[in-house]
Amino acid sequence: MTTEQSNLFYLATQPRPFLDHGEGIYLYDESGKRYIDGSSGAMVSNIGHSNPRVLAKMKAQMDKATFGYRLHFRTHPSEDLATKLAGLMPEGLDRIFFVSGGSEAVETAEKLARQYAVTQGQSSRWKVIARTPAYHGGTLGALALTGGKLFAGPFAPMFQDMPHVKAPTCYLDRDNLSDEDRGIKYAEMLRERIEAEGADTVLAFIMEPVGGASTGALVAPDSYYKRIREICDEYGVILIFDEVMTGAGRTGTFLACEHWGATPDIIAMSKGLGAGYAPLGAVAARREMVDALMEAGGFLHGFTYAGNPLACAAGLAVLEEMEEQNIVQNCAAMGEVLHARLKTLMDRYPFIGDVRGKGLLQAFELMSDRDTKDPLPKEMNAHSELVELAYARGLILYSRRTRGGVEGDHFLVCPPLIITETQIDEIM
Ligand code: PLP
Repeated sequence: MTTEQSNLFYLATQPRPFLDHGEGIYLYDESGKRYIDGSSGAMVSNIGHSNPRVLAKMKAQMDKATFGYRLHFRTHPSEDLATKLAGLMPEGLDRIFFVSGGSEAVETAEKLARQYAVTQGQSSRWKVIARTPAYHGGTLGALALTGGKLFAGPFAPMFQDMPHVKAPTCYLDRDNLSDEDRGIKYAEMLRERIEAEGADTVLAFIMEPVGGASTGALVAPDSYYKRIREICDEYGVILIFDEVMTGAGRTGTFLACEHWGATPDIIAMSKGLGAGYAPLGAVAARREMVDALMEAGGFLHGFTYAGNPLACAAGLAVLEEMEEQNIVQNCAAMGEVLHARLKTLMDRYPFIGDVRGKGLLQAFELMSDRDTKDPLPKEMNAHSELVELAYARGLILYSRRTRGGVEGDHFLVCPPLIITETQIDEIM
């Protein structure tokens, strides 16, 4: 379909067919062609498509009320989802605020941190240090964290860029450091940045525990997470984990932070929470932070659709389904299978330079030379060529040409967490 035939506009991409329906890990276009949803859309459809339980629960809620403004009514779906979610958070992070998407979750986390600091008499703290590359969202406040030429582009004059530290792109390093030392090397960059900015101006540090689209499933060495937590504690800096992509089971634990026991102070979630059934996001924060805000008159923030009963009913049903079907456990097991299978591609194709990830947030990266780590030439346009080839054969992949601050082609392979081993073989 050409743009002349549509009133919608997005990023210029290939023309795509109309979607007809989805079932499990598959999507079908109007011609009946079947696609494996190898990226769960944009790492969203964690429990697969057309889940009967979720649809039934949504329908039941629709028959009662689809909207009740939170200043006018409490609703059972929002209260029940908050209770359920609080039980899945790390100890102490049991205060929940609902939003409708990832950018809203990230900006809510920032504003919560800021208002808390003000209640603590620390009004000089406002800078939120982020990593580069990273992706924290497309709204102007989130773009100040996302940074980078690719996303900021013409919008750069419209926001104040926040300070950045280098993301731990260890796989590109060519030194002889051990994993442990390399993790510490990157974590110490945060200390340097805090000191350079002046600790009394630094409010928070935000990071994706496993990188998403901007880095291609970047996982840091274990030592990184522990040291980051220590540095934040040392300087009184609030640690925010952006678990918009990694939360809701994607990495094989409900939250990615569980892998390292490095508990943040605030967690932003979205994507898999509504799992494609409803626009939904949430922020979880330490109880004492929220109590301080509430004592000072409440959180000065909110969105019209936040906590609406239909989205929350969907979110609740998604969590129930995950629990009953052991979907997080399946993700951990299938993540290992997928990782091992992708690794075998490295034996067959010398241009696959790296395979990385956690759970079913897996990625492979193309390189012209594994030793020098040089990327393929940009003119090859490999990322979109491969995505189109796969799409034509009925496999949806998610790709970007960015890595570690330089250009490179990586591909996320992130199917719904309900995938089976046979279906992984189908992807391969
Ligand atoms: N944070 C992370 C880690 C993301 O991956 C994304 C989206 O890809 C966002 C924030 C922004 O979410 P949304 O597009 O729902 O606003």
